Amino acid sequence: MEVVLAESLGMCFGVRDAITLALQAPQGLTVLGELVHNRTVLGRLERAGVRTAAGLDAVVATDRVMITAHGAAQQRITQLRARGLQVEDATCPLVRHAHRSLHRLVEEGFYPVVIGKPDHVEVRGLVDDFAACAVIQSDADLPALKGHAKLGIVSQTTQPLAAVLALVEQIRAAYPNTEVRFIDTVCAPTKERQEAAHRLGHSCPVVIVVGGRHSNNTRQLVQTCAAAGARVYQVEGADDLNPDWLRDASGDWVSRVGLTAGTSTPDEVIRAVHQCLLSMPGRDQFRAAA
Ligand code: SF4
Repeated sequence: MEVVLAESLGMCFGVRDAITLALQAPQGLTVLGELVHNRTVLGRLERAGVRTAAGLDAVVATDRVMITAHGAAQQRITQLRARGLQVEDATCPLVRHAHRSLHRLVEEGFYPVVIGKPDHVEVRGLVDDFAACAVIQSDADLPALKGHAKLGIVSQTTQPLAAVLALVEQIRAAYPNTEVRFIDTVCAPTKERQEAAHRLGHSCPVVIVVGGRHSNNTRQLVQTCAAAGARVYQVEGADDLNPDWLRDASGDWVSRVGLTAGTSTPDEVIRAVHQCLLSMPGRDQFRAAA
């Protein structure tokens, strides 16, 4: 059994920088929401004295709070400052780019539209500064865009680009008399990991995806590998691995198993899963694609 690592996987620079900022902060910091959807990292932050609160509205016991890499609406940051809190902002620059893009579209008279999950913290941050804004996920949501002469569209940074582009085309087809402008705000690390996951799912009968249960981009990697033809299992760490997953219908070991990981997965967790796969019985060769 060959273990193949995705050419691009794991933690992105936006999450790395946010973790570093939190760990380097003086004592007395509360992160508003999950800085990263990973229990290993959350445990490390807790041991370093960094507190985590449920979200932007949480009552906190510290004077300083941190906005996660997912970002927040400006009005929410203003509200935090009005409560007398000092705000550390770890918003990823690529999330900021999505904010700027949507604001520019609105300034040019477009009705704002975000392709993404309506309840996701990043999407709330994108839309909450606008009196009205549509959040759509599929063609079932297209009726919500009726009655606007100009639609300005951005995407949640972790959406799969192919699905986003397909939905934009469906919008154009459904509203041929509407001016539709789309700015691609899917971030580069997401694109690279998605493309690598597609290749992995295409070339491996089984793929293991490492990432938190609440991680949107990890879920997207699972879907991408499955759509490419692989049998896919999501784990949060090496303890979750089940050797039975690596057998085919006849009970034989599969010839190749792929390994990828979401953007909030720390290197040491990926290494542990990798080592565990390498130690599985039936594995007699190893090749890392990257
Ligand atoms: S997934 Fe993309 S947008 Fe989100 S923190 Fe990472 S690099 Fe930034």
